[in-house]
Amino acid sequence: MDSAEFRVRGKEMVDYICEYLETLGSRRVTPSIEPGYLRPLLPEEAPQEPEDWEDIMRDVDSKIMPGVTHWQHPRFHAYFPSGNSYPSILGDMLSDAIGCIGFSWASSPACQELETIVLDWFGKAIGLPKSFISSAEGSKGGGVIQSSASECILVAMLAARTQAIRMLKEQAGDADAEDSLFLPRLTAYCSREAHSCVEKAAMISLVKLRVLEPDENGSLRGETLRKALEEDVADGRVPFFVSTTLGTTSSCAFDSLVEVGPVCKEYDTLWLHVDGAYAGNAFICPELRHLMAGIHYADSFNTNTNKWLLVNFDCSCMWVRDRMRLTSAMVVDPLYLQHDHSNQAIDYRHWGIPLSRRFRSLKLWFVLRRYGVSGLQSYIRRHCRLAKHFEQLVNRDNRFEVMNDVKLGLVCFRLKGTDRINQDLLAAINASGKLHMIPSVVKGKYTIRFCVVAEHASEADIEHAWEVIQEHAKEQLEALHI
Ligand code: PLP
Repeated sequence: MDSAEFRVRGKEMVDYICEYLETLGSRRVTPSIEPGYLRPLLPEEAPQEPEDWEDIMRDVDSKIMPGVTHWQHPRFHAYFPSGNSYPSILGDMLSDAIGCIGFSWASSPACQELETIVLDWFGKAIGLPKSFISSAEGSKGGGVIQSSASECILVAMLAARTQAIRMLKEQAGDADAEDSLFLPRLTAYCSREAHSCVEKAAMISLVKLRVLEPDENGSLRGETLRKALEEDVADGRVPFFVSTTLGTTSSCAFDSLVEVGPVCKEYDTLWLHVDGAYAGNAFICPELRHLMAGIHYADSFNTNTNKWLLVNFDCSCMWVRDRMRLTSAMVVDPLYLQHDHSNQAIDYRHWGIPLSRRFRSLKLWFVLRRYGVSGLQSYIRRHCRLAKHFEQLVNRDNRFEVMNDVKLGLVCFRLKGTDRINQDLLAAINASGKLHMIPSVVKGKYTIRFCVVAEHASEADIEHAWEVIQEHAKEQLEALHI
C-alpha cells in the first residue's frame, strides 16, 4: 500500500469506524457463535500473494464482526468501561504513524518528555499529592504509563521486594548474600476484594500473599491489617507490600487508606500501593476526592485512563513517590542503550518491564486537551448520576435489592431469593444479546453488576436496560410460579 492508496483507505476506514460506532446499537451486544467458529471460515495458511483491500474488509464484516463482543455498545454494562473516543483513536493513529520505540530520551525525546508532562497534568487534575508530581518543588516522584493495572501492581511489588531485600541484607550485614535467601520470609497483603492481578503479581514475585477479610462493606480496615502484620512479624515473616484498592472490581468498594496508611508507616520495609484502576479517574471531580482520603500515605498509585477516562487501551497511569526506589529494581544498562543525557532526562525503560514502548502519552494528551478537565468531569458526573438513577429504579421494585453502596458508576443488584434464580436471570439476559452484564459475589451472595459504560449513555439507555431486566425477571419468576 503506498501513500496514495493509504489516503483513500484511511478515509474509508474513518467512515467505517464512524458507521460502526454510530450504528452499534442495532447489533446484538454479544456474539451468537460457538468456540472455534472462526477457523473453518479462514484459510489454513497466510496468503502467498497480496490480497485486495476490498476482500480483506469484506472478511472483517462477514467473519470478524460476527465474533466481536461490542464493548462500546449502548447495552454493554459488563466489567468496567473500555475507554474510547475520537481524539484518543486519532492519538493512537498518530502514534502508530510516528512508530517510535520510546524507551529512552535519546530514542525519542518527545515521547519521554510528553509522558512525564502529561502524567503531571493528569496527576494534578485528579488531586494527587505533590510528591507524585515530578515537576513539583522537592518532589522525587513522577508518573509513567504502563500497559495495564496488572503491570503497575507487579512493578510496584517488584520494587518493594528489591527495597525489602536490600534492607534485610543491611540488617544481616551481608551485602553479598543471595537475594533468594530472603524470599521465603517476604509477605505481601491485600484484601479478599482486591483484583486477582495482585495474586498473580505475588506468584510471579515468588512471595507469600496473605489475603485479608474486608469489613461488611468490602473495605479493608486498619485493625485487620495491623493484626495480620503483628502475627506475621511474631512468626519471623517480613511484611513488605500492601496492595489496597479504591473501587474494587466486585462492588466498587473502597479500602480505608486513612486507617491502613498509618499502620503501614509503622513498618520500615512496607510499601503501600493503591490500585484505583477504575475509580481513580473519578478523582478528576473534586467532590469525589473524599474517596481517596489517605492517599498521601501511598508509595504508588495507579489508574487506567483506558477504563474510565475515554482513552483507548492501553494507557494505565502509575505514579510513585520516589522514582529511584522504583527504577533501582529495574535498571539494566548495556552499552547499546546508553546515551549522553542519561543524567538529565527520564529513560522510561527503567520504569517497567518492557524495553520497547509506544508513544501512548499522545492519546492521553489529545483527550485531556480536546475534552478539557471540565469535559471529563461532566462525563464522570453523568455516569455517576445515571448509576444513581439505575439504583433508584432497582429500589422501586421490591422484588430486587441493591447490594453495594453506589458511589460511582457501578450498581450491584439481585433478585431477592436464591443465587440460582439470579444465575438463571443473568444467563437469560446475556443469551438474549439485548444486554450484557457480568456477575460478582457481594456480601456472600451471587450478584449482578450493572456498570454505566457508553460515553454518551443517557437516561433512556438506563431505563431501557431496566425494562429488559424486568421483562426477563418476570419470565424467570413466572416459570418458577413465584
Ligand atoms: N484492578 C482493578 C480494581 C480492576 O478492576 C482491574 C480490572 O478490571 C484490574 C486491576 C486489572 O486491570 P488490567 O486489565 O489493566 O490489568
